[in-house]
Amino acid sequence: MRRQISLFEDQRLTLEEAVDESLESLRVYGQQYKHWAIAYSGGKDSSATVSLVAWAIKTKQIPSPESLSILYADTRQELPPLQQAAVNLLNVLKSDGFNAQAVLPPMDKRFYVYMLGRGVPPPKNRFRWCTVSLKVDPMMAALSDLRAEAEQKLLMLTGVRLGESAARDQRIALSCSKDSGECGQGWFQTSTPEAEADTLAPLVHWRLCHVYDWLYFETDRHGYNVDEIAIVYGEDDVRTGCIGCNLVNKDVALLRLVKTSEWAHLAPLLELKPLFRELTKAKWRVRKSKPERRKDGKYSKNAQRLGPLTMEARAYGLERVLDIQDRARVDLINAEEEARIRELWALNTWPNKWDGTEVQGDVPLDAIQIVDNEIVVQSLLV
Ligand code: SF4
Repeated sequence: MRRQISLFEDQRLTLEEAVDESLESLRVYGQQYKHWAIAYSGGKDSSATVSLVAWAIKTKQIPSPESLSILYADTRQELPPLQQAAVNLLNVLKSDGFNAQAVLPPMDKRFYVYMLGRGVPPPKNRFRWCTVSLKVDPMMAALSDLRAEAEQKLLMLTGVRLGESAARDQRIALSCSKDSGECGQGWFQTSTPEAEADTLAPLVHWRLCHVYDWLYFETDRHGYNVDEIAIVYGEDDVRTGCIGCNLVNKDVALLRLVKTSEWAHLAPLLELKPLFRELTKAKWRVRKSKPERRKDGKYSKNAQRLGPLTMEARAYGLERVLDIQDRARVDLINAEEEARIRELWALNTWPNKWDGTEVQGDVPLDAIQIVDNEIVVQSLLV
């Protein structure tokens, strides 16, 4: 298919011009801060940012800050090639003298421990607990530590780019864009508290082709090889995020990956999304049978809300995930996490305001509605 040439074609930035502008912004804003940090997601924009900044410092094209910390948000939910690329890159950055470290969520907040141990149902659009637990909170804690050590505000560099379409540009302002781009990329721009860091997005003007040209064809120049990224993205703007993310309709990146001979063994991971969908059903959860009182004494509107996963659901979920990880030959739940999940069961752990004495979610009940803070019961029709 031939690409339509735009009237403004000659006004598009070349990669060299895009790089020059990035270096200039790093020189101008960077000199105001002694300590810099990059929240690294392992995705393409983030990898381009890390490699550009590290290369510019190494080659003395910009004044070096006193420290550059690269914080990799290791959710343990990333696609294996991206995870592998990120770990490799961190190792090279460390050997180059940068402070590169992985930031993990605390044990009880890890995806499967929180879901199958504590019983919190899989995330969905109106209940997106995952971004905060897996990415925002751990990264904020790591940043706070850096900030305390530095005893001054940091400069936080992000990989946020203005897209080539207005829709994409708008999404940059949203937290955790879910249809394109990388989950958790936008949030950092909007939620870094003033006290910890000011943010700069040095690649904000880069087009998608600049990112790929830089990552795939300029390796000899910058020295940071992230080949595995090419396997996941190709040259498209596919979304990446957690494996089996319940908030998107299709695992486009995973579907692409399992078509390659090297990663075909990951095909069982395609069973995760249907499993998460299944576990959101009423039969796997408990439900309030009576309305709860809010802090102000009034009844809460959703009188018979569905809640956490039953113990049976958690056991079923754990068995399925362990089986999937065996067949896909990946590490989704490690031994320590499995032990913690079982320990939380033994401790009869439930999310706040639940204790397991509630009714199972699919048990027929008289319907309760709250009208003007009064309980209205509609008897079950038989
Ligand atoms: S990719 Fe999906 S599951 Fe992962 S944090 Fe984002 S919304 Fe949650």
